[in-house]
Amino acid sequence: MHPAHIDTVLARGGALLGDPYRATATPLYQTATFTQEDPEAFGAYDYTRTDNPTRHAVEEQLAALEGARSALLYASGMAAVAACLRLFAPGERIVAGADLYGGTQRLLARLAAEGRQVEFIAESSLEALADAVREPTRLVWLESPSNPLLEVVDLRQAARIAHRAGAWLAVDGTATSPYLQQPLALGADLVVHSATKLLAGHGDVTAGAVATSDAGLAAELARHRNAEGNALAPFEAWLLQRGLRTLGLRLERGQANATTLAERLSQHPHVRRVFYPGLAEHPRAALHAAQARGPGQLLSFELRAPELAAEVARRTQLFSTAVSFGGVTSSISLPTCMSHASIPAAWRARRPLPQGLLRISVGIEDVEDLWRDLSVALTVVQPCAAR
Ligand SMILES: *Cc1c(COP(=O)(O)O)cnc(C)c1O
Repeated sequence: MHPAHIDTVLARGGALLGDPYRATATPLYQTATFTQEDPEAFGAYDYTRTDNPTRHAVEEQLAALEGARSALLYASGMAAVAACLRLFAPGERIVAGADLYGGTQRLLARLAAEGRQVEFIAESSLEALADAVREPTRLVWLESPSNPLLEVVDLRQAARIAHRAGAWLAVDGTATSPYLQQPLALGADLVVHSATKLLAGHGDVTAGAVATSDAGLAAELARHRNAEGNALAPFEAWLLQRGLRTLGLRLERGQANATTLAERLSQHPHVRRVFYPGLAEHPRAALHAAQARGPGQLLSFELRAPELAAEVARRTQLFSTAVSFGGVTSSISLPTCMSHASIPAAWRARRPLPQGLLRISVGIEDVEDLWRDLSVALTVVQPCAAR
């Protein structure tokens, strides 16, 4: 059979091969151990920390979605990020993207404090990346588009730069999901997800994933995960699988809504700037379109009166004030106080986020209801032509 289209893999994947009852939905094996037929000859599964049929079925589905040879699921996105970062020995250099999720920056800062060599690129450009990637860099870590500024990096060229220096390229694909972008096909060696966001999609589970086609990296990751016990629990894997089935539908609606809101916000008198790769004014809109199938449902914007950002978030009702993104319900956050507050002050000073930055995750609600909610909240902002 030729490889199925991604919509088919989403809807029909996660089947449990060899299931004697041929369950149509992925069965939940909520068990810690598996009874062995013989003490000297183990069956396919023995202990859930190592492997579990439910989790395995979802890993197979995710690998198919990423075009990877294998995928591993973790207890959270940060557990997946940490699993990748610990593959590299102390003393080996890590080069990190200019704009990254706050938790990843906090972890990188900790590694640096423990003596690892971590260097952030000065800005999201290939020139800055090529400058930073000197031997003996072992790992380049990027997000495209990045969280929260939606900056876009040419991933094909980034892979060439990394590989020329003998480094691996890891891409945190949380903002796109494989439905929009498949980093491995663009040359990355590892793709990492906070599956809490788009992949699970309902805000009811935390999960993380790593996919790779490199058998050595996959074996090393599996060895550490078994030793440390940070794999995703079966019930969480089952919830993730249930969410995956509708990823395409959720994303199509969410990003259509996000595009409408981005266009209206960019015309709004109180908004200085909108960061969204689906807008023609985004400096890398064409590059993003060349390496992704759509702009996604995450966007941020800067108010002309930054001191009123918190008040706008307070006033929205449909947009819940909440961290995280990629769910079916819309949310709004102040990255500097919320998702990116954990960045150590000295590191934040390197590249401060714009004052008054608001990030929204656009869900699948009615777009006119969403716009009404946002525009009413924005009426708190006094006209400020002088700014
Ligand atoms: C949320 C997020 C993470 C961390 O994932 P958790 O599931 O919250 O642990 C990592 N990377 C990005 C880009 C994220 O947005």
